[in-house]
Amino acid sequence: MGWRRMAEPRIRKSEDEWRKELTPEQYHVLRGRGTEPPFTGELLHIDAGGMFHCAGCGAALFSSDAKYDSGSGWPSFFKANAPDSVKLTPDDSAGMHRIEAACARCGGHLGHVFDDGPGPNGKRFCINSCALKLEEQ
Ligand code: FE
Repeated sequence: MGWRRMAEPRIRKSEDEWRKELTPEQYHVLRGRGTEPPFTGELLHIDAGGMFHCAGCGAALFSSDAKYDSGSGWPSFFKANAPDSVKLTPDDSAGMHRIEAACARCGGHLGHVFDDGPGPNGKRFCINSCALKLEEQ
């Protein structure tokens, strides 16, 4: 057995701090669990290779290797960068049963996960573009 990996520290900030650091759109999505309008996100049609990080805290969340065009209007991934990087929680708001995807590190809302993905586990991570920052590689 090797060393147990230290749990990444959870980032906690006041609403004022988040409001200062994020754009109004990012604040609406990440901290207010909002949704950007479909087909508007800057990263929707980006094909560059790299890592998509949380726009709130910088955690590495999705690799471009897992990105695909779902036709939904939001950046879509068939898996997270690491199983523990994205926290999944049942979300029964808006009269639907969905699974919310949030950044495990800062708790920022990213989007939702559906079961119609193309990969081996059948998942579609439907993620707001403004919740992500691409670091091209
Ligand atoms: Fe985060």
